[in-house]
Parts: sequence; structure tokens; C-alpha cells
Amino acid sequence: MMQTLSNLMDGRLVEPVGGAYLDNIEPATGRAYSRVPDSDERDVNAAVEAAARAFPEWSNAPAEQRCRVMLRMADLIEARLEELARAESIDTGKPLALARTMDIPRAAKNFRFFATAILHEKSELHVTDRQAMNFTLRRPRGVAGAISPWNLPLYLLTWKVAPALATGNTVVAKPSEVTPMTAFMLSGICIEAGLPPGVLNIVHGAGAKAGAALAAHPGVPTISFTGGTRTGAGIAAVAAPMFKKLALELGGKNPNIVFADARVDEAVAVSLRAAYSNQGQICLCGSRILVEAPLYEEFLERFLRGATALKVGDPLEAGTDLGALVSAAHYEKVRSYVRLAREEGGTIACGGEVAPRVSERCAGGYFFMPTVITGLGPQCRTNREEIFGPVVTIQSFRDESEAVELANGTAYGLSATLWTRDLDRAHRVADRVAAGTVWVNCWLVRDLRVPFGGMKQSGVGREGGDEALRFFTEMKNVCVKLVDG
Ligand code: NDP
Repeated sequence: MMQTLSNLMDGRLVEPVGGAYLDNIEPATGRAYSRVPDSDERDVNAAVEAAARAFPEWSNAPAEQRCRVMLRMADLIEARLEELARAESIDTGKPLALARTMDIPRAAKNFRFFATAILHEKSELHVTDRQAMNFTLRRPRGVAGAISPWNLPLYLLTWKVAPALATGNTVVAKPSEVTPMTAFMLSGICIEAGLPPGVLNIVHGAGAKAGAALAAHPGVPTISFTGGTRTGAGIAAVAAPMFKKLALELGGKNPNIVFADARVDEAVAVSLRAAYSNQGQICLCGSRILVEAPLYEEFLERFLRGATALKVGDPLEAGTDLGALVSAAHYEKVRSYVRLAREEGGTIACGGEVAPRVSERCAGGYFFMPTVITGLGPQCRTNREEIFGPVVTIQSFRDESEAVELANGTAYGLSATLWTRDLDRAHRVADRVAAGTVWVNCWLVRDLRVPFGGMKQSGVGREGGDEALRFFTEMKNVCVKLVDG
């Protein structure tokens, strides 16, 4: 019997009002293995009402009380690490080892980080010419909407939910309908941890229906969204006339710049990870590799050797480097970009095709070989549009200024990586590359205290650390006249 998932509403697991469900497909097999609520506006309205009812008490609870329940949630995520990691691997197609070491631990960390951050909040007081003192009050904004994507489902959902709850907001979350399982399991954890009813409500369903209803709801003044740039633009258009506060974390086409003086072993090994982790479905993946001309041939040869050695396999098996792409539709999208690259005159240096059958169990899965494309210039669509799969391009550049020009040659600006031993150059290029995060001689090293977000069409607003705590709060300046004399 297929498992049927429920919404979390007012502290209870409930069916969608309309009683409709969508099939949830396992990407490694292509078969439906559970049913997810196909919620609509009625479910979203009920969730917002529950969240609004819970708001006065939750927002006025002492920080320590909110902290305690959120820490219990973190503990429960860690206690269920294996169960959650397996569920995430089945739901998304990513290797189990990745879910176990990255996604699930980070979800626990997100709760712990923001739960404890609120215990150490500071505020400043400004005295104006001995006449008055000014201080700033911060209050939670009300019901926050959290809309998250399929690539890192629990990690990115909790990255929004945790700071919102910590600062005293209540939340309606809409996970991606493509990967609902770990959010559903989080519902159980909320109940078990004793999170008061209505504080977090999780409504499953299609983006265009449940997601759109949440973005458009007048009772939700704050929306934190992570997903594609086009979807983000649609949400911004709906939210703007209502003056909602928005954080939009959108797509990327991130340059990975390798200068000739780089430590080559390290640059190749980490660039492979940056290209193919999670089958290239991480917004921060380094999908455009730019190599300084004297190193180009050597780098390309070593990178190709590394890429062809990666194992595409059953996500649940140890030793698998790349699992399945997330859905049939996404698989088709990635394949269409490889066709486009050929039409644009690119050379498929490796991969470029669906993987040979990885196992009997996975015969119907969406497996694609790690792919390298060369010979394409910066104007090609292949080098400008987000593919979000195990497909990278490699180009060469002559000097630092050409590297910066190529790096900045897309509409995106999420992240960039530089490989060099020249400290001066690292600082110069980091300053000139338009990206929200620049890594020097590393990739995906994340400190939760730093502001995270993109430039240009990679989004607006910043999450992480104090920025996230500020995002979910309303500021009020109070100016008090000082007593004369
Ligand atoms: P989408 O934009 O398709 O979807 C993101 C979320 O929005 C999903 O929950 C989706 O629901 C929902 N949604 C879809 N349409 C609407 C709508 N009209 N109104 C409200 N909500 C809607 O992105 P993907 O899920 O395909 O995720 C991949 C994208 O996310 C990539 O572009 C990637 O770069 C980006 N991303 C950005 C990150 C960042 O931090 N900048 C991090 C991770 C990913 P459903 O899926 O159920 O349709």
C-alpha cells in the first residue's frame, strides 16, 4: 500500500480539504511510491488562520521557551538522522551518503543555530546631543510564508522556518510537491517536540496552486522563497502591491575560476564536487569552469579523468557518487540543454547522455552521466542559462580582466569560486566579481552567521545570521527625551 502524506495544520495531521492527492515519484525508479496532498487555496486559508491564532502567544513567549522547543526539534532530527536521510535519498534521488552528511545534519543545525541566537540578542542605544535617547524595538511580523524547492528539501525549508519561529513569527510552509517526504516527517517531529499548535503549518501541493495562494494571501506579510528566477519574479509581482517583505533566493550560473598558479590537485578535486554534487542540482554549483590558458589543457584532462571515474548508481548504494535527477520533467530539461549545446557548436568532452542501466531496481530512473562541454563562448545560451544538472562548460581565459568579464557575463550573481595562490589577486577578483558569495580556494564552506543571498537575477534580500533575524522582524524606533539638566 502506498503511503499517504498529510498536511500539518493547527498541530494535527490532516487531509487536504478537497481530498485530492498527487503521486510522489521515486526518481531512481520512476515509480510512484506515496501520495502527497494536492492542497488548494482552502487549505492555505485554514493554515494562515491557524498561524494567526497561534501568533499572539508564540510571539509573546520568552525567548528561552521558543529556544527550548526548537532545540528539541533539532535533537529529534538528529535522533532520526538515518531514517530521514534514507527518506530524503528515496524522495530526491540523491546519494544516501550526501543526505546523511549534508542535508539532514544541516536541518538540525539550522534549528539549533537560530534557537540559540535569540538568547544572545543585543540592541543599541543612541544618545542625541544629550537631548534624547533612541532605541530600536524589534517585533515579529506575523504569519510568515516559506516556499522551498526540491533540491535540498529539508535543509532549505528549515533555513527559513527556523529564523522565522525563533523571532516569534508563526509560519505556513509550502515545500516542493516534488520532494515532500522529509517535510512530512518534520510535521511529526513538531508534534512530538511539543511545538504549540498552529505555530508551524505545512501545506503540501503544487506551486502554481498552493504556493501561489500562499504568496497572494493578504494575511501573510512576509514571504521567504527559494526557487527558480522566473517563479521568484511571479511571486514578487503578486507581493509588491501588498508591500510584502520578500526574500528571494533564486538561480545561479556560478563561475569557478582557476588561475594558472592554483594548487591543481585541490582545484580539480573540489571543482568536480562543485560540478556534480547532488547531480549538479545545488544553486551554488560551479557550472561554468574558467581556466587560465597555460593551465587549460592540463586541467581539462585531469577534470575529464575525474568526471569519467565518478559512479552513477542507485542512490541507496554505498559508493554512488551521482544518483538520479529529481523528476522526469527535469531530466528532459537537462537533456534538452545538452542537445542545445551540440546545436550551438559545443563539443561533448564526456558524458552527454543518459546513464546505462544502473541496476534492475533502477531501470526506470532518471540517471544522467556527468557531462563536460567545451568550445562554447560566453554568448551561448548553454553558458548563460541555468541547467541545474550534472553538466558543466569549461572555457579558457587569457588574463585576470578577461576572467572577471566572463565571470560577470550572465544575468545571475549567486556565487563564485577562485583558485589562486596570489593573495592580492584573490582580493582584487573577489571584489570585482558580482556574486553574493565568493569562495577562495574552497567551495560550499558555510558559516551560518554570514549573510547569504545573490546579486542581479539571483535574488534580493539576505538570509543567514543576523540578516535572517532582521528579515523576520519589524523595526520601531523609539525616541525618548532626556530629563533636563
Ligand atoms: P521552482 O521555482 O519551480 O519552485 C520552488 C518552489 O516554489 C516550489 O515549492 C514550487 O512548488 C513553488 N512554486 C512554483 N510555482 C509557484 C508559484 N506560482 N507561486 C508560488 N510558489 C510556486 O524551483 P525548483 O523547485 O525547480 O528549484 C530549483 C531552483 O531553485 C533553481 O533555479 C535553483 O537555482 C533555485 N535554488 C536557489 C537557491 C538559492 O539559495 N539561491 C538554493 C536552491 C535552489 P512545486 O515544486 O510544488 O511546484
